[in-house]
Amino acid sequence: MSGAARATLPASLGRPDHRVEPSLTDTLCTRCGLCCDGSLFAEVELSGPAEATGLEILGLEIEDGDATHPLLQQPCTALQGRLCGIYPHRPECCRTFECRLLQGVRRGAVSIERAGEHIAEAHQRIARVTGLLAQLGRRDPRLPLKERCAEALAREPSANPALNRQRAELEAAMAAVERWIRRRFMGGTARQ
Ligand code: SF4
Ligand code: SF4
Repeated sequence: MSGAARATLPASLGRPDHRVEPSLTDTLCTRCGLCCDGSLFAEVELSGPAEATGLEILGLEIEDGDATHPLLQQPCTALQGRLCGIYPHRPECCRTFECRLLQGVRRGAVSIERAGEHIAEAHQRIARVTGLLAQLGRRDPRLPLKERCAEALAREPSANPALNRQRAELEAAMAAVERWIRRRFMGGTARQ
């Protein structure tokens, strides 16, 4: 994040990853947030119990995982809009993460404008899924997107054809989101 942009934001807000040019995270990550909001990940592995304890004190949701690598639950409760609310204290996995899209921009394979379009399209596709979830009465945003869909689709087929149609639409929309995320965002540096 550039000094100029940092000055326009509360000091505690920012985005993960400081291995790319600050202006790049300003331009792209601040309008994305998909690696924190449960769209890309259901959980991320922390470096150890000490890091987990510090994050718990800050109010983040941690699960035990295995003994040495606790898990930060997603959607991350530190996310404020599309910005990290604990930026100076974010864990190592967030400091070092780069998604495939960000890496592509950094090495010049994708333009910033094109990357912005990919992010906007991801948000549009996800909004379609969350809209269908809301129609099916699944408005709780605290679960990762894929889990919310799985819960909505796990019910027995209904006698109501319209409801079954909505579920089929949800299944297709979520499959499209997963394909888009895999193609555009996954395969960068490891986060789990
Ligand atoms: S998914 Fe990529 S572009 Fe989006 S916030 Fe995370 S690192 Fe930035
Ligand atoms: S602490 Fe949470 S909001 Fe901040 S960068 Fe990590 S996952 Fe994102």
